Amino acid sequence: MASLFIDGGWVAAQARGVREIHCPADGTLVATVDEATAADTVHAIGAARKAFDAGDWPGTATAERGDLLLRVADGIAARTDVFARAESLDTGKRLVESEYDIADIVSCFRYFGKLAGQDAGRIVDTGNADTFSRIVHEPLGVCALITPWNYPLLQVSWKVAPALAAGNTFVLKPSELTPSTAILLMDVLAEAGLPAGVGNLVLGAGATAGAPLAEHPDVDMVSFTGGLATGRVIAANAAATVKKVALELGGKNPNVVFADADLETAIDYALTGAFLHSGQVCSAGARLIVQETVHAQVVDEVVARAGRIRLGGPFDENAETGTLISAVHREKVEKYVATAIAEGAIVRTGGKRPDGTEFANGFFYLPTVLDGVRQGTNAVVEEAFGPVLTVETFTDEDDAVRIANDTIYGLAGAVFTQDAGKAQRVAGRLRHGTVWINDFHPYLPQAEWGGFKQSGVGRELGPHGLAEYQEVKHIYQNLRPAPQRWFSG
Ligand code: NAD
Repeated sequence: MASLFIDGGWVAAQARGVREIHCPADGTLVATVDEATAADTVHAIGAARKAFDAGDWPGTATAERGDLLLRVADGIAARTDVFARAESLDTGKRLVESEYDIADIVSCFRYFGKLAGQDAGRIVDTGNADTFSRIVHEPLGVCALITPWNYPLLQVSWKVAPALAAGNTFVLKPSELTPSTAILLMDVLAEAGLPAGVGNLVLGAGATAGAPLAEHPDVDMVSFTGGLATGRVIAANAAATVKKVALELGGKNPNVVFADADLETAIDYALTGAFLHSGQVCSAGARLIVQETVHAQVVDEVVARAGRIRLGGPFDENAETGTLISAVHREKVEKYVATAIAEGAIVRTGGKRPDGTEFANGFFYLPTVLDGVRQGTNAVVEEAFGPVLTVETFTDEDDAVRIANDTIYGLAGAVFTQDAGKAQRVAGRLRHGTVWINDFHPYLPQAEWGGFKQSGVGRELGPHGLAEYQEVKHIYQNLRPAPQRWFSG
């Protein structure tokens, strides 16, 4: 079946290219989908442009757009099993994790569905009774939405829901590795009543299918989630047409554990932070920064428990975490670990692929703890995006903050302490877009998400997540028009 969705219908790639999708846990063939080229993407951009310029969708009442998003939420919720299974087959992640993701996706559509109807401009007090001034929110136009493979449909929902709530049309290009749930989403959008051309889907590699999205003059905004290197390319490509750019990039996220923390809880969250989804999480707590007086106590226990984490495929009920996404990605993680060892890091557990025939056809890598890493080395600078936790120590509060901020990234971080004042002080000083206190990883659709520094530009979720997809216009009216006579002639 054709798998590009353009102008309200399924179409095949013009060059008839296809791509096979294999489950990374065992190599089984999951799907064969169309592989778009630039020509298909330009076709999709044209459809989105035409639908926007026709004015019907941007002119639809905000409450009506919100109702459509609520129907989309219901449509996804009703097919949770189908969506979760597809997500697990594409990514190799455990089914239970995919089920959590689908619930979060439903919440995201519900949140923006409700927010759409509440969004209002404002009256500006001009200080002059003879004038009237107001601020209105308008859609941007055609939005290009480019997403990664680690949380495929979740990242899509963070963009599609606010883009539609604001009245835009879009062209979505999900990761070429994980297209299945985006395909399912287009059917749900159509069933919910989305008009033809408003939502378009292209599938394929970034350099070919993706590139026109940043470059094309008919695209008004590009919203990208993915790696830093790709983000730089997208921003540079978008510069020629000065389109609006939103970037959600990587992180090298500190997890700061003070000696006065509830250490049992801190150890538990250190494991979740680092090894959930095998560390393939932009906000993974990949840097454990622990007060030196409790280093041995905390790290010995983290190492012991990391060594007991059970790996397995998406439908293995005994598995606690899964595979990496691809052979290429596992090689990247292996290179990162080899470099860390060369820099003097001590492998306390893991540092290799698991033994066992059940892992032979997947891209598994053992949960790994690297102790004794030094600041400024590759291990604490580069994002591994795999199941690798580095350990650093600090002396006092200032030292902890200095180390935690010593990164070009600034996505997320956590502080563990039972001293409420210290928790707030440190949270306030961390240069990261989200800070958790005595917790790791929770996020809320109503709370903004995004990066400081090179972790990105702009915000997703929350009211700012809607504002990303809006133009702000000032309309000023003279209520008592009369010649001004600035010029005498
Ligand atoms: P990636 O940068 O390789 O690819 C992301 C997307 O960009 C894919 O759809 C890809 O096809 C596309 N792409 C690549 N080159 C392109 C180009 N020239 N023009 C247009 N599109 C192009 O990232 P990935 O490997 O899929 O994802 C992992 C990265 O994503 C990690 O660095 C992770 O930290 C980051 N990430 C960030 C967040 C966040 O919220 N900040 C969330 C998830 C993932």
